[in-house]
Amino acid sequence: MTAKKVKRTPEQGERAMVEGILEGSPDAVGVAVIRLNCGCRKMAAVNIDGEPASKIIMYRDQAETICEQCKEDNGDYMRVTEQFIHWNTPEPDTEKKKTISAKVLGTTEELPQ
Ligand SMILES: [Zn+2]
Repeated sequence: MTAKKVKRTPEQGERAMVEGILEGSPDAVGVAVIRLNCGCRKMAAVNIDGEPASKIIMYRDQAETICEQCKEDNGDYMRVTEQFIHWNTPEPDTEKKKTISAKVLGTTEELPQ
């Protein structure tokens, strides 16, 4: 049986965006991904110092534009459901990752090993 129609998930779309951002940002060690409760995403490349290495990109998977809510509040942090950094390879060491995460996402949570 051959399944010709591969279902495309929002995560695949997200992944493709991350790859695109990394390609366009030579200084990036990773991409901060912020998922909003409306389904839109906010992303920005970060450099080794935890500074932005690209513009903040907002997008909605398989849609022309972001949703009305996001246009209004620009993806308010109150609506964030999940945020993490997708690290480029080779990844920075754990300590560095912690520092960058704290700076970028404002969290001191332990990173999964
Ligand atoms: Zn939205």
